[in-house]
Amino acid sequence: MRFEFATAARIVFGEGAAATLPDLTREYGRRAFVVTGRSPERAAALIAALGAESFAVAGEPTVELVREGAQRARETGCDVVVALGGGSVLDAGKAIAAIAANGGEPLEFLEVVGKGRALERPPLPFLAAPTTAGTGSEVTRNAVLASTEHGVKASLRSPWMLPRVALVDPELTYGLPPEITAYTGLDALTQLIEPYVSARANPLVDTLCLDGIARVARALGRAYRDGSDREARREMALASLFGGLALANAGLGVVHGFAAPLGGGWPAPHGALCAALLPHGVAANLAALRARAPQSPALERYATVARLLTGREDARAEDGVDWLRALCAELKIPALRAWGLAQSDLAGVVAKAARASSMKANPLPLTDEELRATLAAAW
Ligand code: NAD
Repeated sequence: MRFEFATAARIVFGEGAAATLPDLTREYGRRAFVVTGRSPERAAALIAALGAESFAVAGEPTVELVREGAQRARETGCDVVVALGGGSVLDAGKAIAAIAANGGEPLEFLEVVGKGRALERPPLPFLAAPTTAGTGSEVTRNAVLASTEHGVKASLRSPWMLPRVALVDPELTYGLPPEITAYTGLDALTQLIEPYVSARANPLVDTLCLDGIARVARALGRAYRDGSDREARREMALASLFGGLALANAGLGVVHGFAAPLGGGWPAPHGALCAALLPHGVAANLAALRARAPQSPALERYATVARLLTGREDARAEDGVDWLRALCAELKIPALRAWGLAQSDLAGVVAKAARASSMKANPLPLTDEELRATLAAAW
């Protein structure tokens, strides 16, 4: 057995921890650049405490947005970047810190559709504080950017891009409305299931996934029904963090393989796409494993996931799919067509998904026909 595990240099977790962010930032630089979301007032205290320049990210980040942000960051002469917001803001900040230090075009460094060039210099020191409980981007080495020109999302990735500090304060998520709680929470669950069954799983990742899946099973419904449930918010913040640790070290799978072209081509939140696809992606993998790889350890792993989700010792892998379907119904997850995807779009999405980097870690390769059927089921 051989594996490697890498993460943020420091993880600071706890209710109220966000109050320490200005002091933490000063440990890494004197002139901060703060990346915020579409409601910059959430970061007003941080910006004021640091006397920092700020940059607002209104939606999921694009190549153009990062180009502009990096330009602004360079103009301010900053020596540290802090991002406070959802995964979109964290990814934007992470990419800005990298491009500001390296210069050049974001597309040159982008995987799949770009040139995939390696960074030549470490990014500016980067601190990440999530306000959603879903992406785990605070502990991952990639930033997902949409290339409007190519109609796909792809990653800028480097071991150097791991944040210096991941500050996870569950209180920052108390204001999330039920819909975003549901989308982001199901993204977290996907990021715990896919690495656990991935071809690159390892014992360290397994522990995080099993613990995280159990937390989501007991807390996501509660956080959705009552956003002020402090315990449920804490469980989801931990689960999201564990999902990030897992995906960064064991990869993802078919659900994220689809999310790359869907998120690049349609204005749908990333979490909503993962949520709509998750039960169908698991069902497709189970059917393909039973047909072509009945000895694969991934089958027993899916049964373990099902036992954690349902809380039943006698659960079979397929019972996990039923549990996921029921959760998606309770959380009112829209089918993919709600985001404007037409039936005639499905073939093009399948072709792009087959090339996505996440698809490589799926427990077994799915055929084009299996991919088409999975997408059609989620449509
Ligand atoms: P998001 O950051 O796009 O935020 C979703 C919405 O929630 C936005 O409208 C935002 O303004 C709002 N919001 C954020 N925090 C809030 C709060 N505390 N209260 C009220 N509203 C709040 O959503 P996300 O799911 O966190 O991030 C999605 C992005 O992350 C996608 O671009 C996806 O590709 C990327 N991602 C990256 C990684 C990675 O490892 N780098 C992993 C998974 C996903």
